[in-house]
Amino acid sequence: MITAYTLFSGSSGNCTYVTSGKTEILIDAGKSCLAIERALNALGTSLSSISDIFVTHEHSDHTCGLEVISKKYNIPVHFAYPSYDKAVHSGTYLKRSAVRHEVIFEKRVGNVLIKSFEVPHDSMQNLGYIIDDGEDIFGTATDMGHITESLANELKICRCALIEANHDKKMLISGPYPQFLKERILSPKGHLSNENCARLACFLADNGVKCVTLGHLSKENNLPKLAYDAVDSLLKANGLTVDLSVASPDEAVLLTRG
Ligand SMILES: [Zn+2]
Ligand SMILES: [Zn+2]
Repeated sequence: MITAYTLFSGSSGNCTYVTSGKTEILIDAGKSCLAIERALNALGTSLSSISDIFVTHEHSDHTCGLEVISKKYNIPVHFAYPSYDKAVHSGTYLKRSAVRHEVIFEKRVGNVLIKSFEVPHDSMQNLGYIIDDGEDIFGTATDMGHITESLANELKICRCALIEANHDKKMLISGPYPQFLKERILSPKGHLSNENCARLACFLADNGVKCVTLGHLSKENNLPKLAYDAVDSLLKANGLTVDLSVASPDEAVLLTRG
């Protein structure tokens, strides 16, 4: 059985903890080493128990803790090569622990198999991950400019999934962001709106996914209630049910419920 938590989720930092049996990994480390260590301690574990870190992409809200973590711990940090080539040269310690992979790769860590898949975003590369321990499957995809058929098909085999609900379109358009940033977020390589997230959630629920958590909410352009209601109402309108929850920017949220 897989247990996964978002430790942090949103534009101010992302880190997801995944465990099965004795295997413990992180996806992204976009908060300080100290903040991640504290969040893990609160769950009864620590960075010294983490065997591997898998990075989705090189943006700082997913990577800013990696240099200090690499200085203090000897944890392999896995990147797809376009993100590696962009991010790793600058880090003295990260250089030691970083592992360069093909875009699509598989890695066995203890009793779980981790597989990457492509997610469209304005980074050198962005990945989603599927984690399979032989009896349970968890998947994650955020920083998603649009939904591709292939990413939807990767996620539909999961029991539980973390997907992005970045912004409420009306809040974004009428909000304080400069025009170029609004256009970037709304572009097919930006971030997923609540409305499009709801479509993905319906597709996943319709294919048997039991549990969906909405993550990477924008602090300025979204509210947890707006994200939840947008998804919940489209699920209801289609007669679909799923265990639905919203991730928090700075509190651990269980992703593998039920
Ligand atoms: Zn990003
Ligand atoms: Zn991000």
